[in-house]
Amino acid sequence: MSTPTPPAAPARLVVDLRALADNWRTLDSLSPGAETGAAVKADAYGTGAEAAGPALAAAGCRTFFVALPAEGAALRGVLPDADIYVLNGFHAPSAALYAKHRLAPVLGDTGEIDAWLGAGTGSAPPAIHVDTGMNRLGLSLEDARALSQDHVRLPAIRPSLVMSHLACADRSGHPLNALQIQRFAEVRAWFPGVRASLSNSAGIALGGPARFDLVRPGISLYGGTAVEGGAIPVRPVVRVEADVLTVRSVPAGEGVGYGAAATTGRPSLVAIVSAGYADGIQRRLAAAGAMAAIGGRRVPYLGRVSMDLLALDVTDLGPGAVRRGDAVELVGPDVPLSEVATLAGTIDYEILTGLSNRMLRQYIR
Ligand SMILES: *Cc1c(COP(=O)(O)O)cnc(C)c1O
Repeated sequence: MSTPTPPAAPARLVVDLRALADNWRTLDSLSPGAETGAAVKADAYGTGAEAAGPALAAAGCRTFFVALPAEGAALRGVLPDADIYVLNGFHAPSAALYAKHRLAPVLGDTGEIDAWLGAGTGSAPPAIHVDTGMNRLGLSLEDARALSQDHVRLPAIRPSLVMSHLACADRSGHPLNALQIQRFAEVRAWFPGVRASLSNSAGIALGGPARFDLVRPGISLYGGTAVEGGAIPVRPVVRVEADVLTVRSVPAGEGVGYGAAATTGRPSLVAIVSAGYADGIQRRLAAAGAMAAIGGRRVPYLGRVSMDLLALDVTDLGPGAVRRGDAVELVGPDVPLSEVATLAGTIDYEILTGLSNRMLRQYIR
């Protein structure tokens, strides 16, 4: 990834929209016979939905999934023609938003269906979510079957999509995958003529039977790991970088940062970087042995991560190698997202969506 425009803030989230579009095309080619949509909830996994959405649309994506109506409203502002589904369903107090922005709620509870019918919002035609074994959102199989035979409510709903969600798709050998696919095949047959959608990123890697009519990848679009072992060949999209504010020489035997949690074992060069846990660089990373990269060379964190700052031990790069103003990569091609997530004891999704809005979003177009 090349740096786009001159750094306009000391901590930046650089999003490669070309890589994002390439990843969408890759997922589309892995899903022959199915339309490829995009999950852009949580501000497109932290990358900025108002830039990511149009980049995906330009690549050919027409169907988008957000979690909340406000996310859908914001996305509508940049995607006048797309189909936008709201995964968390119909939020009655926000009813006007669905109509105004032609948002399609994903209805997954009988009470919710009643509320949506009662509100008469004039939203876009909704999706029906059926639970096939995850026990999260979605109508039970019994309720779905009853709805499919309800000659009053079904025509009033006019669903545009029937969907379900896989619980264990990241483990291809998990027996729940085959069971959910089989149940969903039955469910979609109850709703003839309605398009069907089951798979997220990991579901796409499960292959043909999981595809149905529309796939809904999220994490893979953003270069994250959907399946252990990286079964989906995607490019990194996100680079987190921050500037060096100062480089100090610290004698041996001194503490660095809060709690003097690290002690220099030798005369050291310490680079102080303008990013901290308030930016989403988790405090636990330092003790877990996290690394950053400067000019492609990896260096370890030193001491605690503070709210706005962190320290790196750059002694091994030699005197003068690191200067005030140099950019440090905290996540990116040299510090893979999956490495950071593993060290933080979490998953790529949580790292991406935890990168705070204080960091400037910069786009490579
Ligand atoms: C988030 C989400 C997706 C996308 O999942 P990824 O694992 O990020 O590909 C698809 N469908 C539903 C219902 C989701 O909540």
